[in-house]
Amino acid sequence: MKNLPCVGLTCSLFISGSSIGADAALVADSKKVSGVEYLYADVSDANTILAAIDSGLLSRYQGKDRAAWQQVYREKDAELTKELGSLPTSGLSSRDSRAIAAMQKQTKAFTGGGALFSPAAKCHDAARKDIVYPNLKSALVACFVEIGNSLTFEGGKINRVSALDLLHETSDPGRRKAVFLAFVPLWQAINGNNEPDSPYRRMIAGAVAEAAKDGSEIDNAARDVGIDPAEVERWLVQILEAWRDSSSEAMVEPWDFRFQAGEADRLLGMYIPLDSLRPINQRYYRDLGADLEQMGTLYDLGPRPEKAALAYTEFVTHGRMVSGVWKPTIARVSAPYERGGLFVLNELVHENGHVVNITAIRNRPAFVDWPSDLFAEAFADVPAWSTYEPSWQRRYLGHEVPEQLSLRALFSVVMLDVAWSLFELRMFRAPTSDPNALWTDITSRYLHIVRHPELSWWAVRVQLADLPGYMVNYGFGAILTAEMRKHITESLGPFDTGDPRWYGWLSEHLLRYGSEHDTRTLMQDFLGRPVSPQALLEQLHRLKPLSSQHTADLFRVPDSSIPPH
Ligand SMILES: [Zn+2]
Repeated sequence: MKNLPCVGLTCSLFISGSSIGADAALVADSKKVSGVEYLYADVSDANTILAAIDSGLLSRYQGKDRAAWQQVYREKDAELTKELGSLPTSGLSSRDSRAIAAMQKQTKAFTGGGALFSPAAKCHDAARKDIVYPNLKSALVACFVEIGNSLTFEGGKINRVSALDLLHETSDPGRRKAVFLAFVPLWQAINGNNEPDSPYRRMIAGAVAEAAKDGSEIDNAARDVGIDPAEVERWLVQILEAWRDSSSEAMVEPWDFRFQAGEADRLLGMYIPLDSLRPINQRYYRDLGADLEQMGTLYDLGPRPEKAALAYTEFVTHGRMVSGVWKPTIARVSAPYERGGLFVLNELVHENGHVVNITAIRNRPAFVDWPSDLFAEAFADVPAWSTYEPSWQRRYLGHEVPEQLSLRALFSVVMLDVAWSLFELRMFRAPTSDPNALWTDITSRYLHIVRHPELSWWAVRVQLADLPGYMVNYGFGAILTAEMRKHITESLGPFDTGDPRWYGWLSEHLLRYGSEHDTRTLMQDFLGRPVSPQALLEQLHRLKPLSSQHTADLFRVPDSSIPPH
């Protein structure tokens, strides 16, 4: 673990004349609250260190093994519960009161270890009708691990991420359809034969009942932008319509959709072998003023059978002031990568967008935490979308593809996220709907995908089972991504080929608050106005429909021996 030296503007914030005010903001007003807050920071660290150990990334951390960390966690957590309960309920500054509320909320989410997205549950339990909602959800996530990590294809096994990647890259239409159909066992595990009491339909009924108590992810996203859920739906539809208007009228099969839009991935794939993913990612962030290696970021990017079935980023330790010096946040990135390619590289840059988001937080311990899900996912795509700009490709890959092909590849993936957002929004509103019919309706209407209501081909994202409603943070989050990219470009300048001021400037203007500010206030302060879908619509208006000749060329069967599909 290395200490983070001062980076750009972030550093000057603490050394310059503003340092007294800035430092004061990093500790509690009340001494008693401050003591509890540092205890909270210890418990929070033990919690995320245990998760890092249980993920399989490491067996010891800071000289302690799992048992030792568990002991730290148990003892300090018990003490924290007692101390939090004994804090005065009046006479505190409003900021201290908000910090206490934040700690109370966050401690409820502590798990004290356990592998993320790799539950002890078994997939076959999902078929049981008597299973309660949280266990049903865990069983469905287990299906993504058990089945999604070993799809049968051409006599061998591939994982879900590789299969999705192959859908972009496989030029043989028969082989492409075979990759697509390799998902059938997963779809059946998630949604049975699409019967009214299929595992997914029972799960979504449970999710809706749960959301009736605390609100859904969709309600949260609406609140984060300051609009109502009906408006969220209108914005999602508006975006899908803009995509439809920029696409050709020809209908494509679902196994051809990613291929048709993924020409950029195919043309650049050979320049992005698996072992180049990390160096390219590091170099881009270094050019943005964020040296991931110096930050001590931990990477666990290889596949393992028991490993989480998706890429994610998490704290290992939380940054805090120690004797007047900022001790930085350490983050880790986990992913099951078997292959390189632009689609995978884009995801890795997204994960590291999460890394720079959390390492840039400079706040008192109660607020050194993730901002809202919507903000976190939207921000991670701010640097990630650059990978689909020709100028980025020229600099970091030494090769580029035309802008139209690049943008179509990027936004086809974004549009699937928007389609899933709308799908979940409508499932939450009417949980007895037929999900296959709903998905078929959305994808045929806006993405011009041939109707296949007999296939639950929407069931390829772990989030649909693990965090129902979460897809809105990607699909609707794209609106915030476009807003932030536009505002940064206008305020600081273009950053697709790097800008060493980028990380420091964003730390100061957007990221340093952590979870203290709600997303609506944060975005309003950053943009100087409320969020609107306009910036994303402008990006979609850069797209021009592919000519029918281009489409025909793309689908010309290269080898007459290939059977028709
Ligand atoms: Zn993410």
